[in-house]
Amino acid sequence: MLIVGNWKAYVESSAKAKALYAGAKRLSVKGKHEIVIAPSYPYIGMLAGGKAGPSLASQDVSVTTGGAATGEVAAGALKELGVEYVIVGHSERRAQGETDADITEKARHALAHGMTPILCVGETERDSEAQYLKGVRAQISAVMEKLTPKERLTIVIAYEPVWAIGKTGSEAITPSDLGEMILYIRKVLADFVPGRANMKVPVIYGGSVDPLNIRSLASGTGVEGFLVGRASTDVATFSSLVKALS
Ligand code: PEP
Repeated sequence: MLIVGNWKAYVESSAKAKALYAGAKRLSVKGKHEIVIAPSYPYIGMLAGGKAGPSLASQDVSVTTGGAATGEVAAGALKELGVEYVIVGHSERRAQGETDADITEKARHALAHGMTPILCVGETERDSEAQYLKGVRAQISAVMEKLTPKERLTIVIAYEPVWAIGKTGSEAITPSDLGEMILYIRKVLADFVPGRANMKVPVIYGGSVDPLNIRSLASGTGVEGFLVGRASTDVATFSSLVKALS
């Protein structure tokens, strides 16, 4: 499984970043899962270059290609540090006004530099007529339709229902609802990646994943990994979460 720890802005000291990195390194060396950590920009710089450690992800990338763009971090700068994944379209960035067009541009910059976009999609709330499914389809389609057939195979879809983010573990999605959603996302993906190649696009889940719920969310749902926020920012919690999967 692919397990991505999104540190968001929870980590504000290099000592904590180093401890979390060391914990993730132990998990990635010993375990069978692919561990990825997404620190904030300064800590990417600090942790880059580690041998046999977790893969690095960026929490975002600039919509620009560089140049006169104060405050932006271009894809080339991330690639040079060894970043392998870039989270795009996180709901916390969409809430800041990021559009599907911005997200598509960011995904394309990441791909052009040999990094894998982790495209976050998910509804804000659910309605009884299941209109939310159309919204998720639109978020995926907006990006996929602008990518080449080859690029479409180098993307991870992170289904993150906004209503389940940053809550307690008991408020995460239920395994049966997750299983249905994964099937639906696979159906949407089939429009862009037909046939068996569809399975090359991992679909992962994020939203209040913790050591107590991860096992049931993983079993029989078809999910291929997790995007973990808060629970990835405590060494012991992240370790028990990953071990609960083994
Ligand atoms: C997230 O925001 O990507 C996330 C999954 O957060 P949390 O695990 O804290 O719900």
